[in-house]
Amino acid sequence: MRAPARRWLAVFAAVQLVIAVAIGFTLQSELGGQSERASTIWWWLMLTWAGSVGVTSMALIWAERSLADALQSLVATVHAGGARVRSGSAGDSVFDGIAGSVQRMAQELDVAMHSLATERNRFEAVLETMAPGVLALDATRHITSANRSARSLFEITSSCEQAALVDVLRVPSLHAFVDGVFAGGPSELEIELPAAGRHIRARASRLGDGGIVIVADDTTEIRRLERVRQDFVANVSHELRTPIAVIRANAETLLDGALESPKTAEVFVTALFRHADRLGRLVAELLDISALEAGKRVLAVEQFELAEVIEDVIAAQVPAATERGMTLRSVAHADVWVRGDWKATEQILVNFIDNAIKYGRQGGTVEVAAFERDGMIRIEVRDDGSGIEPQHRARIFERFYRIDSGRSRDAGGTGLGLSIAKHLADAMGGAIGMDARSPRGSVFWFTLSATPAPET
Ligand code: ADP
Repeated sequence: MRAPARRWLAVFAAVQLVIAVAIGFTLQSELGGQSERASTIWWWLMLTWAGSVGVTSMALIWAERSLADALQSLVATVHAGGARVRSGSAGDSVFDGIAGSVQRMAQELDVAMHSLATERNRFEAVLETMAPGVLALDATRHITSANRSARSLFEITSSCEQAALVDVLRVPSLHAFVDGVFAGGPSELEIELPAAGRHIRARASRLGDGGIVIVADDTTEIRRLERVRQDFVANVSHELRTPIAVIRANAETLLDGALESPKTAEVFVTALFRHADRLGRLVAELLDISALEAGKRVLAVEQFELAEVIEDVIAAQVPAATERGMTLRSVAHADVWVRGDWKATEQILVNFIDNAIKYGRQGGTVEVAAFERDGMIRIEVRDDGSGIEPQHRARIFERFYRIDSGRSRDAGGTGLGLSIAKHLADAMGGAIGMDARSPRGSVFWFTLSATPAPET
């Protein structure tokens, strides 16, 4: 028996004893001289007192055991996550009832904990797979959570949870934003991450515990596209302005009297024609490129013999080559069949050969070759001009990128030919590129899928 129960029993026994003694003396005084009956009463009173104390201590020991059993069973149930059912039938004792209630509570608590854990796992899974970066900070600006996008966006490589934001990210603009948010300033801002070369749009919300959560979207690509569009509009305007200005000036000169002299008029009308022609080509190429970028140009993919296209294009370009004293020839293997769009292949070849004639060496040679490499057919246009310096090579397939704008314009170029060629090669599933040629000149190439010659 435990000490409190023992104490309680001692008090109980003492009180009982006092009552028994009081009853004993009362009865003894009433009985007067009947000493034999008085001793019998004393005897019975002491027996009753001893019996009562004995029964009470037994009841206490039994109650303590039952309580201990019930508590043990309860602890076992809670430890087993509420899954274990207490042995013994319900209603054995008052402790069974209490134990049953607590056990049910434990089971309900367990179910609630389980559903909370499931909820938390689901929330973490959603957070981890979210496209925007989510960074949570506590009131002391320590990171409490950072999802995968946030780690990649801010280039956080090591574990950052519980670390101070200032130790993990050294981006002054972000810290200024966080300071502002804590001070009740604007909760949305576009931030540049110079080291990562990124732009992010950050939105922050205050949390109930004094922290904040920052949701960041990567706007780098949007900004890049905006810049490309702005550059494109600026380039187009610039390209259109020159021929329009020349056309207007020539027309004015003609109207101002040059028409009177047929010889002078011819010069101005020829210039008018040249610039109108250039304008027409520019507009046609712009429409071409916009149709390609919008995916509106549908390619008619078929099998054809490459030599036929090459011969056609060479035949059309020989006069221009001859004009510059150049030799234009095909060294393509015969019977090479490809899968592609005839017109697109022709357009790429025309651009490559036209450029080779324009920028190649006067009196030089331009060769067109076609051969199989790594399961693809590689078509090359080789010139022996002054070539392209390494710093320009990666950029010449960009729209309006020209190494020598003056020379390109004089030669009737628009700066869009190679960019269109790249779109066309991509659309046919091929690659495109240029290499320096030894000892001089350039090799412009593209690839198409090889296909066996049809059986005749
Ligand atoms: P363009 O209308 O100016 O010829 P392209 O897109 O066809 O436009 O070519 C882009 C630029 O690449 C040209 O302006 C020229 O500077 C350079 N280029 C293209 N082909 C050659 C070549 N075979 N040799 C030297 N430079 C070339």
